[in-house]
Amino acid sequence: MRLQNKVALITGAGSGIGRESALLFAREGAQVVVCDLNEAGGKETLSQIEAAGGQAIFVKADVSKGAEVKAAIAAAETTYGKLNVLFNNAGIFHGADNSVLDTEEEIWDLTININLKGVFLGCKYGIPALLRSGGGSIINTASFVAVMGAATPQIAYTASKGGVLSMTREIAIEFARQNIRANALCPGPVQTPLLDELLADPARRQRRLVHIPPGRFAQAPEIANAALFLASDESSFVNGSTFLVDGGITAAYVTAE
Ligand code: NAD
Repeated sequence: MRLQNKVALITGAGSGIGRESALLFAREGAQVVVCDLNEAGGKETLSQIEAAGGQAIFVKADVSKGAEVKAAIAAAETTYGKLNVLFNNAGIFHGADNSVLDTEEEIWDLTININLKGVFLGCKYGIPALLRSGGGSIINTASFVAVMGAATPQIAYTASKGGVLSMTREIAIEFARQNIRANALCPGPVQTPLLDELLADPARRQRRLVHIPPGRFAQAPEIANAALFLASDESSFVNGSTFLVDGGITAAYVTAE
């Protein structure tokens, strides 16, 4: 098993990429702290892990609130004695997030608070726990939009993910000699509830699909597999990377018909 004797905390583990990762990490032997603001989603992930014979706890926390993040990290150490893997994955994509010209300040603040400050808080309170356990792996979920621009704007989301990418790089360098690795996981579009509203509209769906070389969206388990690699010791020399799992979007100029 690839995560035997590891304790992993995953935020946003009540749905999508986070849930698939929690299930996979548990199957690979990790003790998982399932963290989410959505209690129903988090508890569902927990019961799926337990039904499969895995070990996990659920901690309700809003990643944009320092005290709640701190408590979630403390729960990992209290319950399992340590923290080895920190997967800062929770994020939102607001339906009213649009062009810089018409995105309201409230949408900007909400998005930055969850997507960017949430990762900052996870690292702020999680890194001391990783150091106490002798080091570990940090995976911060950014996105391919951190490295590409689009004429289908989502300005707050894009800015938040750019911030996650550069923050992760700096953390990777600062803590490298203390046995901590940090990588920015950058998925292409993934079929999860995050994109439900967008993908339900055939025109908006097709507008994106045409730019994805394999001609389909990713599925959450495909991203969870990349997270597993980054979490495990198999990626021991992977640090500070822009870890693209995008089906080749960022390599493409014109896609095949
Ligand atoms: P999702 O909506 O299925 O899951 C996100 C989870 O985060 C939900 O369970 C939600 O309750 C939780 N969450 C939201 N706000 C929170 C908060 N303040 N505190 C704690 N938990 C909170 O979405 P997903 O597609 O699995 O997205 C996971 C991550 O991947 C996000 O950071 C997202 O930006 C990123 N991402 C997604 C895609 C995609 O196309 N789906 C592409 C690139 C990056």
